[in-house]
Amino acid sequence: MKIRVFHTGKVYVSHALPFKDAQKNPNPFQMSLLSLYGRRNRIWLPVSAYLIEHGNYKILVDTGWHRDISPDGEYNRRAQVKHMGLGHFLLNQGILPEGQSIVEQLAALNIAPEDLDFVIMTHLHTDHASGLKSVANAKKILVSAAELQDTEKYPIRYVSSMWDGIKFETFHFKNTGVGSVGKSFDLFGDGSIELVNIPGHTSGLTAVKLNSGGKFVLLFSDGGYASKSWQDLIPPGTALDEELAFKSLLWIREMSLSENCIESLANHDAEVVPHEIIF
Ligand SMILES: [Zn+2]
Repeated sequence: MKIRVFHTGKVYVSHALPFKDAQKNPNPFQMSLLSLYGRRNRIWLPVSAYLIEHGNYKILVDTGWHRDISPDGEYNRRAQVKHMGLGHFLLNQGILPEGQSIVEQLAALNIAPEDLDFVIMTHLHTDHASGLKSVANAKKILVSAAELQDTEKYPIRYVSSMWDGIKFETFHFKNTGVGSVGKSFDLFGDGSIELVNIPGHTSGLTAVKLNSGGKFVLLFSDGGYASKSWQDLIPPGTALDEELAFKSLLWIREMSLSENCIESLANHDAEVVPHEIIF
């Protein structure tokens, strides 16, 4: 199995989003550009996407930012507000330098969107779903039914225009005993690729556990924002369900400490650089 870790631009967020500011405990408004606290304490984090090559299959995990947020490869306020609306822009700004969109990086590998057998969405927040339309021609675009339900239950947390015209195929987590709440979905039915529910950040948040030869790589999306999240058990600044988010962080920790774990990767870890894993 081969995994390529891409960075598709960066996201600019309050420092209290990835790692809870336990003293201030800011709310989303305070983490936005409308608040002095939110404006003063901002950090750029990478936005990752992953290509998995497994047998003859090509599988993309998440889509990163769409070229629309940075038409010229530079920070563009107007383009972002148009793409995600003012509310989301105030919470997380983005930038996508030239050549860094997922389609541009796949094209550099001679891979067209229609060559992708699966696109797996860990969840549908803006920095993960933005690029969806650019890979609309992939054979299958998968998202958990629980995540899609969240988009209807909490529409304010999402920008549904990002998936206008996209035909999602939903999968349902099964009671397998795998994961923080014992729910997962085995993509091929052979244990090679497990989509594991790690709720908290969103209800349908999906970690991707890639298994080969008794070893595994864990892509834990926004279940934590860095390795230090699980190492030091630092919860994120916000979650749909904080208790579940912490429970999921404990599971990520347990997996990451396993002797069979080759790498465990957070989507927005500032210390991770693009690289390849072959195992
Ligand atoms: Zn994210």
